[in-house]
Amino acid sequence: MDTYKISENGYYGDFGGAYVPEVLYKCIEELKHAYIGLLESDDFQKEYRALLKDYVGRPSPLYEAKRLSNKYNARILLKREDLNHTGAHKINNAIGQVLLAKQMGKTRIIAETGAGQHGVATATVCALMNMPCTIYMGETDIQRQMPNVERMKMLGATVSSVTSGNMTLKDAVNEAIRDWCCHPKDTFYVMGSAVGPHPYPDIVARLQSIISEEIKVQLHDKTGKDHPDYLMACVGGGSNAIGTFYFYLEDTRVKLIAAEAGGQGWNTPFTAATIHSGSVGILHGSKTLVLQTADGQVKEPFSISAGLDYPGIGPVHAHLAQTGRAKVYSINDDEAVRAAYELTRLEGIIPALESAHILAVLPKIKFKKSDVVVLTVSGRGDKDMQTFFKYRDYA
Ligand SMILES: *Cc1c(COP(=O)(O)O)cnc(C)c1O
Repeated sequence: MDTYKISENGYYGDFGGAYVPEVLYKCIEELKHAYIGLLESDDFQKEYRALLKDYVGRPSPLYEAKRLSNKYNARILLKREDLNHTGAHKINNAIGQVLLAKQMGKTRIIAETGAGQHGVATATVCALMNMPCTIYMGETDIQRQMPNVERMKMLGATVSSVTSGNMTLKDAVNEAIRDWCCHPKDTFYVMGSAVGPHPYPDIVARLQSIISEEIKVQLHDKTGKDHPDYLMACVGGGSNAIGTFYFYLEDTRVKLIAAEAGGQGWNTPFTAATIHSGSVGILHGSKTLVLQTADGQVKEPFSISAGLDYPGIGPVHAHLAQTGRAKVYSINDDEAVRAAYELTRLEGIIPALESAHILAVLPKIKFKKSDVVVLTVSGRGDKDMQTFFKYRDYA
């Protein structure tokens, strides 16, 4: 039988591992030996759970969306990560990793950010825990995402502009790795998604698995069943999706559905659909699917949604797709915007553009009336209002 959990040496099937420069080998080994014990310790769990409850506002509701259900002829429940403090699921992970850093005796936090969501979540937790924090961000993204840059600065973080390459997310990751190489002793790198070298994908999956854990209890309360027929989530690097799937990975009664960003179409140059159009390569310390040219140059990804605009994918999702355990749809920009308007008008919930990608899969599946569908709304749409306004005739 296939297993979808990580192997001893950090692989999900053919994907994963830790491909890091020599100077980081020791940091990664230290983390690898420490993380499971620390994450499972009573001290960690007590502090992590207390903050999730009183600071983040968990458990996030599982909301039965009646009008949406009616439209798609299934019983659709929305897992409301959009209601978390700072507006998305990313805070679950940021809290956990900064706590982990403290327990490992690290005194300085670094992170990368694309749209700024992970940067804001990390800067938030660093303010809370009084940790100095540097966020690497591509200059192109800084120009596009000024409100998040200002938020990070207000929270006390140093935002470091990256001017190499296309000056976007992958360049920011490279710069953060370079910083880590220079300060391996005192610095902890907080990774924003289920990507990067082992053990990061597993750390992020465990920290986001709170989503799945809550779904089990809430679904039972609401429907009398402890498993849905479908679990649905969008995938950038894959953290909200693996958090949603986590406790159902081996439960084959549950169909796992993911959406990646097609941009203008997965078979065009303007796409971020890594599973549809990527090939096996090494990106940011992990063997996974990568958007690249035939000679291995990483291509610039393209999506209307900044949070899905990444040229790689978490190794667990490459594996879930390759084995057929998860079915992955490529959703184009215009489909996502229409789906965001639909949820807004049917349920009065403005979703993040990222989350809109998974909502856009609903019309592509033929449900039975009795099907129970749990769909994770990874974040709220406040940050995307400019884009929604631009496409207001899609309403
Ligand atoms: C960052 C982000 C995503 C994509 O990240 P994953 O790691 O794939 O979950 C999705 N939704 C929102 C709201 C985000 O901010």
